[in-house]
Amino acid sequence: MSEVYKFGGASIKDAEGVKNLAEIIRLATNKQLLIVVSAMGKTTNALEALAMAYHARHQDTHEMLEEIKNYHENIMLELFGNENRAAFDDVANAFVEIEWILEEDPHDDFDYTYDQIVSLGEVVSSKIVNAYLNSTGISSRWLDARGFIHTDNTYREGKVNWDKTQNAIVSQLPAILEKQVAVTQGFIGGTSENFTTTLGREGSDYTAAIFASSIKADAVTIWKDVPGVLNADPKWFDKTELMPHISYHDAIELTYYGATVIHPKTIKPLQNKSIPLYVRSFIHHGSPGTVISDHEKARHIPSFIFKVDQVLISILPKDYSFIIEESLSHIFDILHSNRVKVNTMLNSALSFSICVDNDPEKIKKLISRLSSTYKVVFNEGLELVTIRYYNQQTIDRVTLNKSVLLEVKSRHTCQMVMKNLPAG
Ligand code: ASP
Ligand code: MG
Repeated sequence: MSEVYKFGGASIKDAEGVKNLAEIIRLATNKQLLIVVSAMGKTTNALEALAMAYHARHQDTHEMLEEIKNYHENIMLELFGNENRAAFDDVANAFVEIEWILEEDPHDDFDYTYDQIVSLGEVVSSKIVNAYLNSTGISSRWLDARGFIHTDNTYREGKVNWDKTQNAIVSQLPAILEKQVAVTQGFIGGTSENFTTTLGREGSDYTAAIFASSIKADAVTIWKDVPGVLNADPKWFDKTELMPHISYHDAIELTYYGATVIHPKTIKPLQNKSIPLYVRSFIHHGSPGTVISDHEKARHIPSFIFKVDQVLISILPKDYSFIIEESLSHIFDILHSNRVKVNTMLNSALSFSICVDNDPEKIKKLISRLSSTYKVVFNEGLELVTIRYYNQQTIDRVTLNKSVLLEVKSRHTCQMVMKNLPAG
């Protein structure tokens, strides 16, 4: 019986969170457990800001690092008091790696620098969690994920070398878990030259799935600050509903359309090995939460995914020729080379419309590139709502006081690009 538990930054943002994690582990000591942790609280954002400041040769990088160090030290003081000098030293040594980087001139490749700095958030959080578990009598071992998750050198978006990764995990991990709990880092990997990579923001869920699928674990649990997967983000809706059961298929659809509860890459490796994924509350950790698995016993609860700050771009031929396969393929080449992700699209005889996130730099480049061949019109400040398992009532609910600029419906999914109607 092996399982993987993943704890995100919010669950270990303070000493109380780490104690709560230990409580959850204590209740599961009958299982062979791998614990995957993210960086504590908002540490990744802080390290990201530090990496950018260093790259831009700003003067305040040492103050920024001090703040991050203090935050972790305060958590450790609350957990260990003045004991456990070894843990304090271990964490201090990890931060020294950043200090060394800051002393050198920045490397030309920002993405490389980013990964060497930002990855330390997970290194440090995993060291603290591991030390705390041991201090409470749970025998735990710290594992360096960079020796297991092997990637290429696409910094900030490391591509996993599955064969190498699976070999490393299968040959070492089961024997370790037989003896003790293991704690490792989400989000980070290593290249064949032993440089650190990251797997993309919020990538810790994906790490948990990679480990679990490699050892064919019995289950993965993602511990979150919500009771499970809800049918809408409580940020947008006051009345949300917990979905007790979701199929892998629906989970992939929901993350594809922008549901942020789970990282989109997480489901596939689990689905391939039929490993159930639980999403549970670390606050009410006795509640069952949501399970994502194979069985189609799921009731089809309509779910809503909102994306704001959208741009609708319509691409038209300059000379009234039809938008045909050839021009579509040309347009997609341009989208691909500009790394623009299409959130929804629709074509007609004389126009092709796409809805994309408003990343101003990217969009400006894209529009200027498209304009050399096509007539381009665009509309900013829009919302995209996706309803999975829609009906008229749910459509009416989200379109109240909105005007709909574009609507795309398939059998189960309805997407609408809308803007607010002027008041009055
Ligand atoms: N700490 C990383 C991030 O915030 C990875 C994660 O949380 O999954 O993006
Ligand atoms: Mg995080």
